[in-house]
Amino acid sequence: MRFFETVQHYFNDAADRLQLSDDLRRLLLTSEREVQVQVSLELDDRRLATFIGYRVQHNRARGPMKGGLRYHPEVDLDEVRALASLMTWKSALVEIPYGGAKGGIAVDPRALSRRELELITRKFVDGIHDLIGPDIDIPAPDMGTTAEVMAWFMNQYEKYHGFSPAAVTGKPVELHGLPGREEATGRGVGLLTVKLLSRLGRRPDKMRVAIQGFGNVGTHTAKFLQEAEMKVVAISDASGGYYRPEGIDVMNAVRYAVQRNGSLEGYPDAEPISNRELLELDVDVLIPAAIGGVITGSNAPRLKAGIVVEAANSPVDPTANAILEERGTIILPDILANAGGVTASYFEWAQNRQFYRWGLNRVRQELDRALGDAFERTWQYAQENKCSLRQAAYTIGVSRVSRATLLGGFV
Ligand code: GLU
Repeated sequence: MRFFETVQHYFNDAADRLQLSDDLRRLLLTSEREVQVQVSLELDDRRLATFIGYRVQHNRARGPMKGGLRYHPEVDLDEVRALASLMTWKSALVEIPYGGAKGGIAVDPRALSRRELELITRKFVDGIHDLIGPDIDIPAPDMGTTAEVMAWFMNQYEKYHGFSPAAVTGKPVELHGLPGREEATGRGVGLLTVKLLSRLGRRPDKMRVAIQGFGNVGTHTAKFLQEAEMKVVAISDASGGYYRPEGIDVMNAVRYAVQRNGSLEGYPDAEPISNRELLELDVDVLIPAAIGGVITGSNAPRLKAGIVVEAANSPVDPTANAILEERGTIILPDILANAGGVTASYFEWAQNRQFYRWGLNRVRQELDRALGDAFERTWQYAQENKCSLRQAAYTIGVSRVSRATLLGGFV
């Protein structure tokens, strides 16, 4: 199933609950603007390379549009469109004053040198700088992009528009960034996992967890959960999975990956398994924290975890979702589970505009409060309406956006 179809399916489910008219549904499913730009550069070996860059601005009923920039070979318009609309529901669910957007370039960043990565970023800004800005659309990191990429992005944007740190978030702390932004998505995933366990009456120290993906989100999630005394028994990245029933020493694995340019390849202190095997391990909690669409109708029947926490965007398709729900698997949906990133981005943006910066403790405190409130609201809605956490989260998000749209009017 294509990504946009997945998001549309979950949206329609919420729209049914809210009894939204077909006309309003059509409006809420249609992007405000979708652009595709040519990104051409001379590679280090003097060859000319041309890539396609996308920016989809989905909805701005609740504020400027906000969302990450993804560098991945599989990026296409359908995926970016789906991810942009997820940002709209996500921002509404955590009650930050943003609409949704997303962008990306269809490129494998690992195949580029640092200079090429910088050039590709600057060329992309050249193509879209007129369409974005602190009050219009604010990019941020996503899969394959880092704080360093955001620094280049800001610098190139400022060549056209002058000093504008709030034009992009997820910047390095030394360059108008926010302490705690980098860890925020993983910290949020960890925090919400612990909250969910507490609501379910389960003790964290009895929980075995498998995490797919060991990038920014996966590593910070793993660190948080290990500190919360959960046993991280499996981790993985593009090089494969690594399983240790007695528990992996997360900091040791992070140090190993850092020394090898971010890859776990050959990690010696665990048994090598495949990414597919990791998803099907006999664990209590499964956390997909890599790409979307990894749990489908074909592997869902073999999943053993009773709890799935969607750290990645859109990792479970609707067929798999139905199979898992039928079986009683509890799913913490992406728009709640990974909302820590955009929430911390909001703090960064707000502070850039005031030339004031919070310290790490304040960032963590405010983040924990914002996510905690969204979790309680979602949990309560699901209990009262006897529905899944996904249905609850989408219904709250979609209802806030549709309400703002109607209040704003159409003339
Ligand atoms: N890329 C992240 C997400 O999918 C963060 C977006 C942001 O900070 O704007 O939520």
